[in-house]
Amino acid sequence: MGQGQPVDAGRVAAALSGRSVVLVGMMGAGKTSVGKRLAAKLGLPFVDADAEIEAGAQLTISEIFERFGELYFRDGERKVIARLLNGGPLVLATGGGAFMNATTRQNIAKYGVSIWLKPSFDILLARVRKKSNRPLLKTADPEQTLRRLLEERTPTYALADLTIESLDGSHDTVVDAILRRLDATLGKDVAPVQEARRKVEVPLGARAYSILIGPGVLDEAGAEIARIAPGVHCAIVTDARVAPLYLDRLSASLDQAGLRSTPIVCPPGEATKGYAEFARVCDALIEARIERRDIVIALGGGVIGDLAGFCAASLRRGVRLVQLPTTLLAQVDSSVGGKTGINSRHGKNLVGAFHQPSLVLADTLCLDTLSEREFRAGYAEVVKYGLIGDRGFFEFLESNWRDAFAGGPARAEAIAVSCAAKARAVAADETEQGERALLNLGHTFGHALERLTGYDSARLVHGEGVAIGMVSAFRFSRDLGLCSGQDATRAEAHLKAVGLPTRMRDIPGFDARTEDLLAAMRQDKKVERGRLTFILARGIGQSFVARDVDEASVSAFLTREMAVWT
Ligand code: NAD
Ligand code: ZN
Repeated sequence: MGQGQPVDAGRVAAALSGRSVVLVGMMGAGKTSVGKRLAAKLGLPFVDADAEIEAGAQLTISEIFERFGELYFRDGERKVIARLLNGGPLVLATGGGAFMNATTRQNIAKYGVSIWLKPSFDILLARVRKKSNRPLLKTADPEQTLRRLLEERTPTYALADLTIESLDGSHDTVVDAILRRLDATLGKDVAPVQEARRKVEVPLGARAYSILIGPGVLDEAGAEIARIAPGVHCAIVTDARVAPLYLDRLSASLDQAGLRSTPIVCPPGEATKGYAEFARVCDALIEARIERRDIVIALGGGVIGDLAGFCAASLRRGVRLVQLPTTLLAQVDSSVGGKTGINSRHGKNLVGAFHQPSLVLADTLCLDTLSEREFRAGYAEVVKYGLIGDRGFFEFLESNWRDAFAGGPARAEAIAVSCAAKARAVAADETEQGERALLNLGHTFGHALERLTGYDSARLVHGEGVAIGMVSAFRFSRDLGLCSGQDATRAEAHLKAVGLPTRMRDIPGFDARTEDLLAAMRQDKKVERGRLTFILARGIGQSFVARDVDEASVSAFLTREMAVWT
């Protein structure tokens, strides 16, 4: 497999046609040694970004970390990599954290082909142990730290154009494998690599799955599903607004891959997530003779994803589910993570199950038929991931949101980064006991606003409530002295720039009192024994779970917020 004829490095160099080759991955992955050998074969200069930074600063990376901190280093790293890539084709080895920065990833996609070097954990550990100059590993238990870093970064590394796994770790084997993969990928005269689709892995052991993101993924659904489940019968659950837009294309794609399909169409709207449609869809699945080995496909927004997901979890005690999300909210949030369910008259999402999909296919072109308002509302959840834990991503969005709205390459990038962030949170905490709670940034408050506006989507939709909620969380954090006023203002300015509401006064006809808001927040499931659980922030990208926020300070904050506009 893959052996045999040596690859003509000259042909690969020509096919690169001016693009750089950028090696990404963990410390100890062999980026420098492999990079040097690869550069020699391709006849390109080799540069090690870390060495370049050290030379420029006249300090070692460790010293830069110690004197100025990681944030300062990351900022310098981003600039150095941008300059190097701009300077012409080369083979570039990047530091382990560089690819975590969305702006850097965007630059790499523009100027080069990214390759993730992925040796086994044991090889990494052995190599890292030999060197003492890794600032991030100066901890009590370096093995544990390395493992955690690798887990955190895996979904993002997987965004690289190519992944090279090396089990024996020999540098020459890796160089050879890279040349072969480049030859196969570039030789086909396909579209530029950066326009290829993104793939995010959700690492959940035996239940791990992939999220494929990109323009036209819908038409590849048949082939992708046949890959994991050849010959199965598929039930397509969708709604009456989505069906005329995308159902035929999906059926045709399944048909081409030799997969039979039966459509089940529900009315559009939140009311579909209830007992009546649940029963109707389950019966339709049984009538269609969907068996244990068959597949339920959810084609639509979060409503269809949640309903079809819960039907799949329940039918015959569980059949496989493929999510084909068609709203931005569903692509970056509800289709990933396995939460499924329906509403009860007592409240939203009260009846449901955890049921992970086997595959998620996010076609970024499907979002072109969404209303601007729906797109914007989903975008609030995209910004959320930046505000929670990725300042670089937030900055990327500040500069690239127009392109994302217009359907340019920043759209797939923003969706992929969001999915990777959600995948990380889900992998760390599948059933939402702890860390996954961070994903609720802005939601305690947002849910209260939704409740007080009677879930009237003419006045407020979920993402808009979340936007107001996130700004409130930042302003509240600022008032508590946790976060700088600058960061609170900056978070708000971006949401406002894209046209989202950011304050209660932006909701038409909203006139609730502090007590109403508090009462509505208390009903949220995140209230524990009189203390409110809030997600607060120490700055953009530095959110944390605050478990015992006392009501008096919340109440004082809300009263101040209301006073501003009355
Ligand atoms: P939705 O599913 O109701 O879709 C919004 C509207 O857009 C619907 O009318 C739909 O028919 C239409 N639509 C969908 N795709 C379209 C397209 N490509 N072009 C044109 N119109 C299209 O709403 P949503 O915002 O996607 O999802 C909201 C639901 O998701 C809520 O019920 C919420 O509870 C749930 N949710 C679940 C999770 C989870 O983890 N399971 C997370 C967040 C939200
Ligand atoms: Zn949400």
